[in-house]
Amino acid sequence: MTDEQLLRYSRHILLDALGIEGQERILATHAVIVGAGGLGSPAALYLASAGIGKITLVDDDTVDFTNLQRQILHTQARVGMAKAESGKQALQAINPEIDIVPLQQRLSGDTLDALVATADLVLDCTDNFATRHAINRACVHHRKPLVSGAAIRFDGQISVYDLRRDDSPCYHCLFPEGDDVEEVRCAVMGVFAPLTGIVGTMQAAEALKLAAGIGESLSGRLLLLDALDMEWRTVRFKKDAGCAVCGPSGSVRSGEYLRQPAANHESADGACRLG
Ligand SMILES: [Zn+2]
Repeated sequence: MTDEQLLRYSRHILLDALGIEGQERILATHAVIVGAGGLGSPAALYLASAGIGKITLVDDDTVDFTNLQRQILHTQARVGMAKAESGKQALQAINPEIDIVPLQQRLSGDTLDALVATADLVLDCTDNFATRHAINRACVHHRKPLVSGAAIRFDGQISVYDLRRDDSPCYHCLFPEGDDVEEVRCAVMGVFAPLTGIVGTMQAAEALKLAAGIGESLSGRLLLLDALDMEWRTVRFKKDAGCAVCGPSGSVRSGEYLRQPAANHESADGACRLG
């Protein structure tokens, strides 16, 4: 580490659990953040400020005036700009020494697969069910840890799927695809601004712990927040032995999942269907 890095990250280095070694692991990490909206904004800001060495920030959308209430990566001056590029500018202003790769595109199929293959961890900060499942399949296939958050109205949720481990449940174990639940259209839903900050910041915390290799992750636990009453609930869950994605007969093992239809990506505030 350079003298400047020792200073910049000194408050991390002072943490006994983290120290220089943990910070070095953070600096060597490539995180992929899918979605530069309400959840992706705080997640990206903390990962960048804390020195994640490389961040790929993916979003196919542009900054809209209605985003500014909660999507704190973006500014009024950057309305109309690609969110990935606007996000890059915000992150670079805080930490110019890390590598930030903006990707303005829908992630699906081979592109998603190739990107996840190069990642050390993936943050799902998207807002629709199809993309969430596509990201999960790629993470299962490549055995990458997935930090998943969602926020709508006053309801938030967060969990970690540590797919490096054989016994770890995947997103599909918890929220099976094809469950006949109506997906609410995010574009017209209300979202309490700091709720996205709370959940996105917790995603950053879990991602940094995974990167540094410290603590106990949320694997196997889903945290649910009711921000109106400010009450947290924990739901424990296990791997579904018959899961169509991570189970022994799952399509992901054969690579068949790459031929499934592309997701209809909308970036904003996390899944509107909270499960
Ligand atoms: Zn599964």
